[in-house]
Amino acid sequence: MIVILMGPPGAGKGTQAQKLAAHYGLRHLSTGDLLRAAVVEGSELGIKAKEYMSSGQLVPDEVITGVVLDYIHHHRYQGLLLDGFPRTVFQAEGLSKAVSADNVKAISIDLKDEEVVKRLSARRVCRICSWIYSDSLPGSTGTCECGGELYQRDDDKPETIKHRLEVYHAQTKPVIDFFKKFSSVVEVDGLGKPDEVFARIQATLD
Ligand code: AMP
Repeated sequence: MIVILMGPPGAGKGTQAQKLAAHYGLRHLSTGDLLRAAVVEGSELGIKAKEYMSSGQLVPDEVITGVVLDYIHHHRYQGLLLDGFPRTVFQAEGLSKAVSADNVKAISIDLKDEEVVKRLSARRVCRICSWIYSDSLPGSTGTCECGGELYQRDDDKPETIKHRLEVYHAQTKPVIDFFKKFSSVVEVDGLGKPDEVFARIQATLD
């Protein structure tokens, strides 16, 4: 089983992915986390990805697709949760050739652009465990529960958020239509507290 989480940046994919992975025992692959780790390591992947990421653009399809398809192949006997992939129709086509439609459950978290801007500007992330904090949560100005420093992602700065939304509408939204034809997509309202959104997602999976 492969669960795919889609939705605009800031819709809560990362937060919901953490909850879903823990609740259903799924292996969580966040391509954003994978790429950020590669940038910190300074690996070949990180060097290729860095400039695209900090300017809010997508990393080229041929750079990320092979990495994810290898990962899926390697973990093919486990339940997987994909967070942040596929982001383009090219990536979705690559995935659709590697897996059976019956094994795919695609979930799209919907959120309006105004709410995306509000949320991303407030978001802080732990440098060590990648836990995501919104400004309204305790601890968001200090340190993560794991002791890691909280920071604002470069691409959560106002000038980059607008561009990421444009990229989402132009390149990632068509992926939802792709999955409507390939398998099916459940659309879930992303407004509200994380637990409320999680309950909506759970209702579609149980
Ligand atoms: P995220 O943490 O999912 O918001 O991803 C952060 C950044 O990583 C994106 O803005 C892209 O630059 C890059 N990225 C993550 N996943 C992908 C993907 N599937 N295809 C291309 N770029 C990606």
